[in-house]
Amino acid sequence: MINGEKKLERPIRWAMVGGGRGSQIGYIHRSAALRDHHFQLVAGAFDIIPERGKEFGVNLHISPDRCYSDYRKMFEEEAKRADGIEAVSIATPNNTHYEICKAALNAGLHVVCEKPLCFRLEEANELEDLAKKKNRVVGITYGYSGHQMIEQARQMIANGELGDIRIINMQFAHGFHSDPVECHNLSTKWRVDPKFAGPSYVLGDLGTHPLFLSEVMLPGMKIKKLLCTRQSFVKSRAPLEDNAYTIMEYDNGAVGTVWSSCVNAGSMHGQKIRVIGSKASIEWWDEQPNQLRFEIQGKPAQILERGMEYLYQEALEDDRIGGGHPEGLFEAWSNLYSRFAAAMERGKDLNQTWYPGIEAGVEGVRWVQNCVRSADNGAVWVEYQ
Ligand code: NAD
Repeated sequence: MINGEKKLERPIRWAMVGGGRGSQIGYIHRSAALRDHHFQLVAGAFDIIPERGKEFGVNLHISPDRCYSDYRKMFEEEAKRADGIEAVSIATPNNTHYEICKAALNAGLHVVCEKPLCFRLEEANELEDLAKKKNRVVGITYGYSGHQMIEQARQMIANGELGDIRIINMQFAHGFHSDPVECHNLSTKWRVDPKFAGPSYVLGDLGTHPLFLSEVMLPGMKIKKLLCTRQSFVKSRAPLEDNAYTIMEYDNGAVGTVWSSCVNAGSMHGQKIRVIGSKASIEWWDEQPNQLRFEIQGKPAQILERGMEYLYQEALEDDRIGGGHPEGLFEAWSNLYSRFAAAMERGKDLNQTWYPGIEAGVEGVRWVQNCVRSADNGAVWVEYQ
């Protein structure tokens, strides 16, 4: 059970790029990083508008001289200080991730980077090589992967409770962009512009999340080929898609689908994964994250509840409050930040526990690239490269 006692020698001196006032994801980065005292927020370049970023940083109790106008200045100035930053989180629009991540690694910093890591596989491979060369951690925030019930699913599958894995159905399909909200919402505006968002919208923004859940639950399985079709129901979003279906074949004969959508009208969030084996299935849905459905063929369905003693020890280790009270996105993110911190402190010995690291970032970029190649060639099967 996690109870906030210290695990590290001392908190890691940490900064943020982006995540400023009004941003969608900045607050959850701070909540997750600061919750277990593993990080201390000492600097930031929070905003594309320097003055607003500075004011915001000061309101977070950061010393004014450490609220920087841009990330390059921050890396340069912090490197001169004996108490300079050791890690940085990147929570800016997609088009900036590659440059900022590269600059951070070159400055010798550990990184937590938002997805997508970058736009092209060559860039992703370059960042992976750089992280290895510099011996630095790059964590990617596939937030719900840190939830206790995802760990439970991973353990159940590893222990053969489902039998041979045959089918994986995944979706992240919400309805919030059924209308062209980008006309008045800045967080959505850049998401539908390839210059800022990259080669895809919902495939990268949404589909990569349940895809990573499947990688956590089924670490050995590799995609062999896939077929993707993508649509822009709001026409002005073309060439970027607001809906996509991807079908995948895995190397062990299993098949999978990912439905990525922001036009699933009426759906609140809609991230789901169902793993189907020869004996039983499990299903997890982010709108009821504390419950894992376990259905054995021929028996009544069971609902496994978070925090209960019948769960695997590996899952219970992430528990914070016991059964009876809900845990959700914030706790899942905190669990990830806690693992990032442990990996950062351990240095080379990174493999004691899993977390979404640079290889998860690379895989997300690879998957999107393959989906786009399939879709833009007329929704054809493509070998997974
Ligand atoms: P947003 O548009 O709401 O906020 C972006 C923030 O970055 C703003 O504060 C902006 O001023 C700042 N910014 C932009 N360029 C900057 C620069 N060069 N230097 C410093 N600050 C800069 O965007 P968002 O929705 O918060 O998304 C940010 C990133 O987080 C995206 O890559 C997105 O894909 C990702 N995201 C991830 C999740 C998740 O669940 N992991 C959820 C939402 C968003």
